[in-house]
Amino acid sequence: MLLELADHMVVITGAITLAGLLAALAMLRRGHKPFHAEIERLQDRLFAIAESEERYRSLIEAQGDLIVREDAARVMAYANEAYRRMAGVTAATPVADIPHVPVLERTEPVVRPDGSRLIDEKVEAPDGERWISWVETVVIDREGRSEVLRVGRDVTERVTAAAALEEARRKAEAANDAKSQFLAMVSHEVRTPLNGILGMAGLLSDTPLSAEQKTYVGAVKSSGEALLSLIDEILDFSRIEAGRLDLVAARFDLHQLVEGVVELLAPRAQGKGIEIAASVALGVPQFVIGDRDRLRQVLVNLAGNAVKFTDAGGVGIRLSRGTAGFIEIEVADTGPGIPEAKLDAIFERFERVDASASGAAEGTGLGLAISRRIVERMQGRIGVASAPGRGSTFTIALPLPDADRNNQAPARPDLSHRRALIVSRSPFEAPYLMSRLEEAGGVAERATSVAAAERSLGARAYDLLIVDCALGDAATKRLAAAARRHGVNRTLVLLSPFERREFGPPHAAGFDGYLVKPIRPRSLFARLSDEPAAPAEGPASEERAARPAPAPVHVLVAEDNDINALLVTRLIEKLGGTVERVTNGHDAVSRLGSRSRRRYDLALLDIRMPGLDGMAAARAVRAAEHARNVSPVRLVAVTANVSAADREAAHAAGFDDFLPKPIDPAALQALIEALPAPRRRRSRDAETARRAAGAP
Ligand code: ADP
Repeated sequence: MLLELADHMVVITGAITLAGLLAALAMLRRGHKPFHAEIERLQDRLFAIAESEERYRSLIEAQGDLIVREDAARVMAYANEAYRRMAGVTAATPVADIPHVPVLERTEPVVRPDGSRLIDEKVEAPDGERWISWVETVVIDREGRSEVLRVGRDVTERVTAAAALEEARRKAEAANDAKSQFLAMVSHEVRTPLNGILGMAGLLSDTPLSAEQKTYVGAVKSSGEALLSLIDEILDFSRIEAGRLDLVAARFDLHQLVEGVVELLAPRAQGKGIEIAASVALGVPQFVIGDRDRLRQVLVNLAGNAVKFTDAGGVGIRLSRGTAGFIEIEVADTGPGIPEAKLDAIFERFERVDASASGAAEGTGLGLAISRRIVERMQGRIGVASAPGRGSTFTIALPLPDADRNNQAPARPDLSHRRALIVSRSPFEAPYLMSRLEEAGGVAERATSVAAAERSLGARAYDLLIVDCALGDAATKRLAAAARRHGVNRTLVLLSPFERREFGPPHAAGFDGYLVKPIRPRSLFARLSDEPAAPAEGPASEERAARPAPAPVHVLVAEDNDINALLVTRLIEKLGGTVERVTNGHDAVSRLGSRSRRRYDLALLDIRMPGLDGMAAARAVRAAEHARNVSPVRLVAVTANVSAADREAAHAAGFDDFLPKPIDPAALQALIEALPAPRRRRSRDAETARRAAGAP
């Protein structure tokens, strides 16, 4: 600013002088103006110029900014009052005697487009250290020598404020780190005894118990499980708060993800007598790029809440294409709704609508806070529309780019000119079903009562009738008979897995086939295509044949906690295996490093043990195997630290697998069943040999 002023001053002065001379010349040439008047006018001009120069000088003097001019040898040619003050000299000091204020630090100069340079200096002024931000410009003096004009501003306060801010940020980060570490530790410490409680309750419930005792054991288990999910949520939340939410960007099947969430929650919903259904609108890409697991977490939370709070009706998840490449996911329910005053608050941590009113006691109030943070990290939006008694609809919009350029819609049969009648009171499944049929070119109508359905059947010809068996056994069968009378081509009954068992064979009830709720588009279209009907779809558990009992395995368990060791031992024994236990890493390494190592099919190493911990033990075992060139034993890490980083660390240490605490009996069983068969056979041999050798 000041530099510009100085520049202007030179230009203005020059221009005024030139203008005056030209005026005088013109006057002499013309010679018809009174001479003395012109002289007077010129004198006025000169006076004005002097005055303006004086004004600018005092302006520069009075500036708070430092202004100096130096020659090439850095000898000072001019210094304003502010600089004199900083240098500790008076106005009387001759300019050549003004000292340079000592410079303690200097930043690299930054050259600006106009050629001037910016330099920050820390200087030692008489009243202490100051930061000065300089603008330097090279100017040419009257004799044609170059001089440097420097204008400096004291920025000490700004610099110290920034430093203080940085320091505060660092401290806050350190505090946050400490908090997360503390929480991770607490969660570990809580998980270990919880492992004992849940595991023992599980074992106890498998023993003969009276009905009363069964109730108590059930309560112990469900309280333990609630505590476990609470710990997980607190840990997850603190990790997210600490900025440790690392999202992955990978290709995944969005349709399958939504189907999976619905199938996961279906037993819980159907157990409460409500429905859960999903619908993917035409044009929503199947494969997208994003963080599948975090998205699943959000959907399970939203849909889980919806199931938890809804007692009649149901829950629907609907996917559609939003604007600007966003995908919209709606999770709607017919539950109690949320009062308007609470709509914003529920996304805050520990915020819950009065539990007594909603009738649901469990929950931490963290789920939605976590979901919101995840969605926002994904550059998406989350919101809710709800009113008491009118249900709730949570909507998330996410930028999920298509993973494949030719993302094709799954093949669907051509239903053009085919007319379908759906008889159902279902709030979500029925409308979703209608959309699917209409997208395939069909015409879909809906009736919500048997009487209305019979009227429609009498009035028009239908190709397809789908009846929800929730209307009641008798009504359902009556409609099948009516459809036959009216010549409907195909009749399907809509059943939940539970209803399917009750309902018996659909043919006996007069139907061609059935559809299991929640309906997958794939099975719907398979039923509708003219090819012979695909094998009947049933719940996965029913289809899974009883597996043969696994061959006995011999397991080394390294675990210092007696209760947990007992628990693992019992679990393995129930699976027909045998266990050897050690209580520390050193013993584990020496057993696994000895000749008899071949008799272990598996070694479960607790990560936290006194002496040598699990990680160090695994590394030692792998190093020894490498040195002796023997085949590696299967090592499984058992730990309460369950983050992805913990898993990675375990893999890096040489573990093959990872079992989180509390140990899930099914996960342990899967692990043992996944062992290569020859190993199991050999193990049996080893076991025999061991017995023969009289080992314990
Ligand atoms: P939690 O369910 O663990 O209490 P959330 O953060 O997931 O915590 O939810 C916060 C609160 O919002 C719930 O306690 C409940 O009062 C309200 N809420 C969330 N989802 C629904 C829903 N679908 N219907 C009614 N109320 C809901």
